[in-house]
Amino acid sequence: MYAGVYLHLPFCARRCAYCDFCTLQLDETSLKKYHAALKSEIELFSDGAAVDTLYFGGGSPSLYPLDLLQELLDTLRSRFRFELREATLEANPWELTFERLERWKKLGVNRLSVGLQSSDGEILKTVNRPVPPDLFERLEMAVDLFDNVNFDFILGLPGENRKNVENNLKLIERLKPAHISYYMFDSDHETDLMASVKNDIIELPDKDTLEKLHDFIVLSLKELGLTRYEISSWSKGRMSLHNLKYWKSGDYKGFGVSAGSHEGTTRSVNCDSLDQYIDSIVAGKRPLAYIRENTPLEELFETLFMGLRLIDGLTLSAEIFPADLLERSVERIASVLGEFLVVNGYRLSLNDYGLDMSRLVFERLVGIMEEMESLLPSRATVEKQKNT
Ligand code: SF4
Repeated sequence: MYAGVYLHLPFCARRCAYCDFCTLQLDETSLKKYHAALKSEIELFSDGAAVDTLYFGGGSPSLYPLDLLQELLDTLRSRFRFELREATLEANPWELTFERLERWKKLGVNRLSVGLQSSDGEILKTVNRPVPPDLFERLEMAVDLFDNVNFDFILGLPGENRKNVENNLKLIERLKPAHISYYMFDSDHETDLMASVKNDIIELPDKDTLEKLHDFIVLSLKELGLTRYEISSWSKGRMSLHNLKYWKSGDYKGFGVSAGSHEGTTRSVNCDSLDQYIDSIVAGKRPLAYIRENTPLEELFETLFMGLRLIDGLTLSAEIFPADLLERSVERIASVLGEFLVVNGYRLSLNDYGLDMSRLVFERLVGIMEEMESLLPSRATVEKQKNT
């Protein structure tokens, strides 16, 4: 089975007000130090696995110097068995120049994920994300040179209204990207934008407006020939192979600050402090925030959290999970969340109502997991029993 590799390239030209990712202001010194540490992490902690998807995420990977990107690829190729079907690079519209697009292609990048968020200059100015004046031409060049391009949008930034959503959809209609990600703005995170909202400096659109706009987007993307295959993702026959590994609980290995990995039933996440990351690598240690061997119950629920995001849902395999756990979990889930789900044996998917209410479904799923966990012996007890 093939694994995926994720590389976190955290540098950005500026900080967007809604962003809660692990990012750093680009400067020469930090970049050099980070690059050296990232290469060492790959050299020290790779396992030679067969890899068919690669994802450069960030941050703004499109800002990363091209010669250094080449070095990272060479390092990865020397440590993994690369049989790449998909190599994605996240790009900011400002870096979509002919020279860069050509060089990324030559490096082997075959999919671009462009962070648009909105086509409306005023909305983007409000969230400290100015847009290039020749945005359309830059995007046009990207879709001309790459046949697999994703546009990322966020629904619900300040100033959002029907008119600008229509403009986003017109842009999609004209440029015909192979993939669209349309996320709902998440107001749960502590960001500069949310601080302004709490201080009554900026107002967010109301919930009813957003629900109507979301319905309009779902309908319009369908009319444009895009198929919704995940809660926030639509494609024209080009689903994101790398992201499918996340949603299908496949194996992936992450490198760089804050990068996560899933190998078998082990999940780990790297620390998000640049200094701590570099110090760990220099000391020859994995730069981990945590590493955890999932219990079958934890693995089952994590598989559900990810798999239920897919429109087709998932089948919980009796070859992976103990039969009694499967039976009890599916029975409990069906009884608590029945109105939101289609359940057929161990096959589960969200119905239309469940898709609309997915946030609530996932919250309730956490509740069910905690309830079932409380009926099991604690981790500490299990560890003690293993050692006696
Ligand atoms: S460019 Fe992307 S990663 Fe960087 S601050 Fe903006 S949203 Fe965050």
